Amino acid sequence: MKPKEINLFDFIEGRSVKVKREIAAIKGDRPGSNIVFIGGMHGNEPTGVLALYHVMRQLEQLKPLISGAIYAVVGNLTALEKGERFIVNDLNRIWQADMVEKARNRDYHPDEIINEVEEQIELWGYLDNLLQTSDEKFYFVDLHTTSVKSEPFIFMSDTLMNRRFIKKTPVPVVIGIEEHLDEPLLSYVNDLGYPSLAFEGGQHTDSESVRNHEAMIWLSLVNGGFMKKIEVPKFKKHYHQLYHATEGNKKVYEIRTRQGLYPDDTFKMNAGFENFQMIRKGQPLAMLNGEIVKANETAQIFMPLYQHKGDDGFFIIKKIAKFWLGISYVFRRLNLYRILSFLPGVRKFMGSNHVMIVNKDIAKWYSVELLHLMGYRRKKKQGNLTLFIRRKFDLYGPWKRAKTR
Ligand SMILES: [Zn+2]
Repeated sequence: MKPKEINLFDFIEGRSVKVKREIAAIKGDRPGSNIVFIGGMHGNEPTGVLALYHVMRQLEQLKPLISGAIYAVVGNLTALEKGERFIVNDLNRIWQADMVEKARNRDYHPDEIINEVEEQIELWGYLDNLLQTSDEKFYFVDLHTTSVKSEPFIFMSDTLMNRRFIKKTPVPVVIGIEEHLDEPLLSYVNDLGYPSLAFEGGQHTDSESVRNHEAMIWLSLVNGGFMKKIEVPKFKKHYHQLYHATEGNKKVYEIRTRQGLYPDDTFKMNAGFENFQMIRKGQPLAMLNGEIVKANETAQIFMPLYQHKGDDGFFIIKKIAKFWLGISYVFRRLNLYRILSFLPGVRKFMGSNHVMIVNKDIAKWYSVELLHLMGYRRKKKQGNLTLFIRRKFDLYGPWKRAKTR
């Protein structure tokens, strides 16, 4: 079957461009890691795809010295063509291990292979194939935009390899999203042991978002060791693009609250909230099924929903102090997570240091914070008990084992 090709309007250059699943695959002359950029996981977010199209075209023309391999790929091709977030269900919420397994084996009745199922089968087919091509590290960068006006930011799991990858990127980081969202693609590849992040470049159809995405792509190529800074056309301009867009905000925030929505809910966000805006405890934020929803703490509002599709009403986030980030780095490098089971209300599960059970009636406020900072993520809740599991990969992934074999 001929690969599907769609027309996408490039509002920066004022013309229509042809886009396929694979925008580009550029193999360097020197050995190195691999990087996979994904644009258009949500079909109403074309700016990441346009930025990839622009940068890849430049790379193909300039032919700089590249170490490793660079791939650019489209997420939801059908939805992108229609300009809709998704057709039937959100392609970025169906990456549970068993769903991926089904996609890999095409374990569906032909009648079931519609829209996002088909997109997932194709996309995973492509990515899975790539992962077989190299024993080296794979970076994943997923490009998104928001419905609300926002400075650029990064979503990622708090692994040491992710921290290292974004160290020189002048963009704020939000961690802990994976505890609140149904399986996005990045959580899946992160659990496989690859550094991966989502970059939110700004508002859906803003031309600044294209520039921010382009800047992020160039910076990622340098930070991942694919290109030398000097080989990037106008590297400084790209760095400053992001630096000015975020006003130099490089803070790390954690998600504290998610206002989830069910399909039948009527939800209306109060007007005028911007991303990262300060809110006070008790401040009215939205109307949910005729009731006022108020802020449960003084913190910052994040990703308020101002579009009709989506199941996250808003999030509340809070800054993590540099001190704690530093401490957790040292503790994780030294594998000191064993001491966590001495905290009040925290104990090992079946003798394993990798799984901890927290009793919220006994635990102190800092217990959960410390578990997060030590690289554990909340997995299951039952009554007053919560199960936390330590991420299998922190500083190194499976590529390292492949190499030393
Ligand atoms: Zn998105």
